[in-house]
Formats: sequence, C-alpha cells, structure tokens
Amino acid sequence: MEVEEQNNTEIVIHWFRRDLRLEDNTSLYKALESGFKVLPVFIFDTAILSSLEKDDRRIGFICGVIEQLQSRLAESGSAIELLIGKPLEVFEQLASRFRIHAVFTNHDYEPYALERDAVVSEYLNKLGIGFQSFKDQVIFEKSEILNNSGNPYTVFTPYSNKWKQALNMQSVVSKTISKEKLSAALLQFKKTKAVMASDLGFENCNELQLPVIDEKKIAEYHHTRDLPALDATTRLSVHLRFGTVSIRSLVSMARRLNEVWLNELIWREFFMQILWHFPNVQHNAFKPAYDRINWLNQEADFRKWCEGETGFPIVDAGMRELRETGFMHNRVRMITASFLVKHLLIDWRWGEAWFARHLLDFELSSNNGNWQWASGSGCDAAPYFRIFNPVSQAEKFDPKAEYIRRWIPEFGSSKYCKPMIELSMSRDRCLKAYAVVRNK
Ligand SMILES: Cc1cc2nc3c(=O)[nH]c(=O)nc-3n(C[C@H](O)[C@H](O)[C@H](O)COP(=O)(O)OP(=O)(O)OC[C@H]3O[C@@H](n4cnc5c(N)ncnc54)[C@H](O)[C@@H]3O)c2cc1C
Repeated sequence: MEVEEQNNTEIVIHWFRRDLRLEDNTSLYKALESGFKVLPVFIFDTAILSSLEKDDRRIGFICGVIEQLQSRLAESGSAIELLIGKPLEVFEQLASRFRIHAVFTNHDYEPYALERDAVVSEYLNKLGIGFQSFKDQVIFEKSEILNNSGNPYTVFTPYSNKWKQALNMQSVVSKTISKEKLSAALLQFKKTKAVMASDLGFENCNELQLPVIDEKKIAEYHHTRDLPALDATTRLSVHLRFGTVSIRSLVSMARRLNEVWLNELIWREFFMQILWHFPNVQHNAFKPAYDRINWLNQEADFRKWCEGETGFPIVDAGMRELRETGFMHNRVRMITASFLVKHLLIDWRWGEAWFARHLLDFELSSNNGNWQWASGSGCDAAPYFRIFNPVSQAEKFDPKAEYIRRWIPEFGSSKYCKPMIELSMSRDRCLKAYAVVRNK
C-alpha cells in the first residue's frame, strides 16, 4: 500500500513500534499536535524477521493488531503505511517520497533498538529532519529512579518504595486522542491491502487477542495469582509488550484496586532499568561469580525439558502450555526455570532462549531478569541454595492436578513418562556445582 505524496505538503511521521494503539500514545499525540499533517508508519524490520522461526506467533499477533488499527483509522479517512525492510533503508525511501519535517516515535530501550534509533536519527538529522522520541511504555525510565547516592537500585523493595514515592508526587495523565483530532491531522489516504504473516514468509495464525481488563480479577489478584489452574492473572503481558494497552491507564487502575498487582507492574520497570544500566546482563550473569558454574548442559536433558517430557508433571504441563499457546503461568515459569537450571544444571541462557523463542509476551528485560532470578545470578535473585521441589510445588499450587491434567492428557496412565532424574541426587549435585558462588 502506498500513500501518494500530497501536494508537496510538509509532514510529520509517527513511527509505530511497540506502541500499537491509538489511545494515550505519547508520540502519536505529539505528532497530531505538531501542526503538520501526520503519516503513521509501521516497518516490518527484516533484520528482526530474519532472526525468527517461520512459525513465530508474534508476527500473526502484530498483523492482527495492525489490521484492527487500520479499520479504526479508516473511519478517520487514513491508514498506517506498512513498509518492509531495514529501517534505515525504509527511511531513505520515505525521505525521497515526502517532505518530512520530523519523525516522532516512542522510546525503545533494548540494545538493538537503541542502535537502530541512533542510526536512523543520525541519517535524518543529516537531512535536516528532526527525530523526536518520547517516554511512553513505562512510568519511570532510565535514571529517573535512583538511590540517595545517585546509583541505580539493584534490589526490588527499595526501588519500588522510591518508585511509589515518585509516583505520589506526580499525576499520571493519559492523553486523549479523539477521532476528530485523527481526522483533522492525519494524511488522508486509503490502505490498499492487508499484510498477513504469510506475506512476510511466516505461518498465518489467529493470534489476535484484544486486551481485556477485568477489575474483579485485579482486585482478587493477591488471593489467586499463584494457582495456575485458575484464570486469575490478567494476561496483559503481551499487550504491555506490544503497547496495545497503556501503562498509565493500568497503573491508575492498580493504585485504585490492588497494591500487589501494582508491584508486578513495578517489577517490569525494575528489570527494564536493570537492562538499561547494566546492558551486559543480556549475555552475562549480573553477579559475575555465577559465570564460573560448571553447567552440565546435556542436550538430551534439555530436549526433554523443552518437549515437556521430564516426568515431573508441573514442569511438563508448563512446557506444553508454552509450546501450545505461547503463554505460561508465572508460578510455573518459576518452577520450570528452577528445574532446568538447578536440577538439570543447564545454563540459564539456554532456557532464556527457549522462552524468548516461544513466549508471545517475550520481553528481553523481564525474561532475562527472571531467568537470572531463577538461577540465582541476578540482582535480588533467589539464593543459590533455594531449589524449588517440583513435586511439593505442584502439591501446593495445583493440589487437584487440574492444571496438570489440562496439559498432560496421559497423566496418571502408563503412557506418561517416568521422572528423568532423582530429585535428592540432583539437588546435591546442584549444591556442589553452586559451591563456587558461595558467599559471593
Ligand atoms: C523464567 C521467567 C521468564 C519470564 N519471562 C517474561 C517475559 O519474557 N515477558 C514478560 O512480560 N514477563 C515474563 N515473566 C514474568 C511473568 O511470568 C509474566 O509477566 C506473567 O506471567 C504474565 O502474565 P500476566 O500478564 O497474566 O501477569 P499478571 O500476573 O497479571 O501481572 C501483570 C503484569 O505485571 C508484569 N509482571 C508480572 N510479573 C512479573 C515479573 N516477575 N517480572 C516482570 N514483570 C512482571 C507483566 O507485565 C504482567 O503482564 C517471566 C517470569 C519468569 C519466572
């Protein structure tokens, strides 16, 4: 689909990335207020696409969300210009087609995104085109929450206390973007054809889920959040990941309804600021001593874990849920991660990569932070000697084996596999391997 250059009008571009919504979108709002006509664009970045497997569900999710945005923008006589390529090359083309005053977008803090944005903004600036980026996906970013010595927090509780104090000193204001505003400020053109996952070389899948905000569930969250058999957590992670929901609206709701749930949203920002201040965590243990552990890294053991064939029902149920749906309940993520790292002595980076490949809500900072938490190597992590027992965890959190039966139809029959290891042996083995980090 191509919008034609319109009377040589000078325009502003809003570049959609992980902010796929029209409501309370900071960059879109600023672009609409700029006084220039606005062209919304989305780039299917081939540098990212080429690193994904062909059955990656996230592409279907993104295509579905974009189609939904297209229908809504059509009501305002406009559309998102969809482009495929490397962002720099795409902007070279856009700059040859339009008189661009500036490109507006929302901050993206991941290492790849920072590099990409630096390259694009340098190119645009050379042409005299502005590049303006705004805070949008978090309440507090970068160095906004520091300890009294001016350093980043590496422990959650004091970070969250400071975060809440800072929040109380300001109001969280959502920006209203009306249909009239969109109609008046967006470039008027019609989209021609939907982009499907298959157009990009991926399997089509019907992954579009719209955010459902259930206030009752949030109010009850602290009683039920650890029970994977219940539908008791909000399933908003994928929407926070792709920006199909506004963090400001969720935080306002969390303050009103449930502090325990607010803390979860703060964990998300805690890990984001860890990645921002300590980008080496992407490949290394936050606590360097943990990089000295001698992992067993047995391929065959790893395969059993991936396939949900360990013989430990809560682990297998979680791993099968992940493969089949792209989601896993948080409690089960903790149990499966601990099992891989501590009972099987497999490097947490292997598990992190498997989750990154399959989770629809994959978020580099949260995935890395939680894997390092499970392995003990992260900031504010589980101590090295805490080893979840997958049997007693299942008895405690899935006492009637309802969650387990949902994902393991052969559970209880002779078809279900036998436990792949003996727990007390693997526990002792783990403590020996972890001895290198004792007192570190
Ligand atoms: C090993 C492991 C890997 C994980 N990988 C990811 C990941 O890639 N992406 C991701 O979004 N979450 C990840 N989590 C955190 C958590 O499991 C999910 O955010 C949560 O299960 C999503 O379900 P929900 O939206 O129903 O969450 P709710 O329980 O309703 O929580 C609300 C929101 O708070 C945030 N949140 C909750 N728990 C955490 C947490 N421990 N750390 C950071 N943010 C949190 C999420 O944005 C979530 O949507 C991981 C946890 C573990 C133990």
